[in-house]
Amino acid sequence: MIDRRILLASLAGLFGLAAFRWLRATPAQAAEKFEIEKTDAEWRAQLTPQQYEILRKQGTERPGSSPLLKEKRKGIFACAGCDLPLFSSETKYESGTGWPSFFTTIPGVFDNKTDYKLILPRSEYHCIRCGGHHGHVFDDGPPPTGKRWCNNGVALRFLPRDTKK
Ligand SMILES: [Zn+2]
Repeated sequence: MIDRRILLASLAGLFGLAAFRWLRATPAQAAEKFEIEKTDAEWRAQLTPQQYEILRKQGTERPGSSPLLKEKRKGIFACAGCDLPLFSSETKYESGTGWPSFFTTIPGVFDNKTDYKLILPRSEYHCIRCGGHHGHVFDDGPPPTGKRWCNNGVALRFLPRDTKK
């Protein structure tokens, strides 16, 4: 009987330890670290109210509202929060959704997480350098990737390629 009690106590201890580890791991994962980290007040001072709403509060701009939808020049689309180059004009396409769309990104510039804001899970992506939210990636894009990176235009800064050289 005693042996059994010791066994049960040990098992409870093991489960307790596992639960404790899990509880400790969760907040650590939630607090992602970025190269550029600013206080909320600093972001508010740097960004326009619309940029702040999208980059820092995971907002979404009104479809059809971005001047970048009509941007046809060659160049780079950079993060409006930290200037990290995110997309090349060669990967931009007209998706008909009302948001600037790309079939791929410059490699390694985004991190993903799943959000449930519209009940169905969506794959949110954010800038790897400043953590700014940019949009969602879907599986209905054109070849060669089949991906649609649906980006808020307000979160991007377009840098036209210098054609004079
Ligand atoms: Zn950024």
